Amino acid sequence: MDWARQIHIKSPAEVEIMREAGRINATVHATVRELLKPGVTTADLNAAAEEVLRKHNAVSPFKNYPGPYPYPASITVCINEELVHGIPSKKRKLKNGDIVSVDCGTLFEGFVADSAFSAGVGKLSSAAQKLLDVTEGALKAGIDKMRPGNRTGDVSAAIQQYVESRGFYVTREYTGHGVGRQMHEGPQVPNYGTPGRGLLLRPGVTIALEPMVLVGTHKTKVLRDQWTVVSADKSLTAHFEHSIAVTEGEPLILTVL
Ligand code: MG
Ligand code: MG
Repeated sequence: MDWARQIHIKSPAEVEIMREAGRINATVHATVRELLKPGVTTADLNAAAEEVLRKHNAVSPFKNYPGPYPYPASITVCINEELVHGIPSKKRKLKNGDIVSVDCGTLFEGFVADSAFSAGVGKLSSAAQKLLDVTEGALKAGIDKMRPGNRTGDVSAAIQQYVESRGFYVTREYTGHGVGRQMHEGPQVPNYGTPGRGLLLRPGVTIALEPMVLVGTHKTKVLRDQWTVVSADKSLTAHFEHSIAVTEGEPLILTVL
């Protein structure tokens, strides 16, 4: 993925704006989550997200994001084996037992917040529920390492260790990333890594951490729509993401209400 590698340290005032953007993003997620029912289309989810953004004078940095062709929607919606970058469609209806992963960004007053969640439609199988629990747990394990004095490799390694020790796989091709005025800034923060390596964390570093977890393989492929990324073996996947600011004390999760 080709994005600016520059790392921007945010002032407290900038972090505060990102916190506002993060609140809006969390509101989008809460709204979309309510709609996760059989028969709802993924385009319905996108429309609901756009409505929330509009009400808050915000837009999605996903819309027209450069790629094989400009990304056509404000959120991505992925079902089951779809890992990331699924394009909402009027033809795609949610079904009972699906895992749905929703990723959204909010651009507000010049700053971006980026977060994602996976959830079940109706009742999930216990295997699917375990996948969600492990992926969310991996995000928490990564966030807990977002402290001054640690390095991004400590964060990456914590995510990888959490996931692989529970028998699942982390993707290699798609990574967490710095976030700020741009949705994708430096540093890249993979979901695998070596403790002690990478960027030294200090207050004002803001990173979107996003474990992408697969049941059967770490390998992925891209569908013919040129955006949607699926597990290479069609096994289930999940994706949780928060934008986090490093502070003097506890990590500040920006993308909550
Ligand atoms: Mg995201
Ligand atoms: Mg992201």
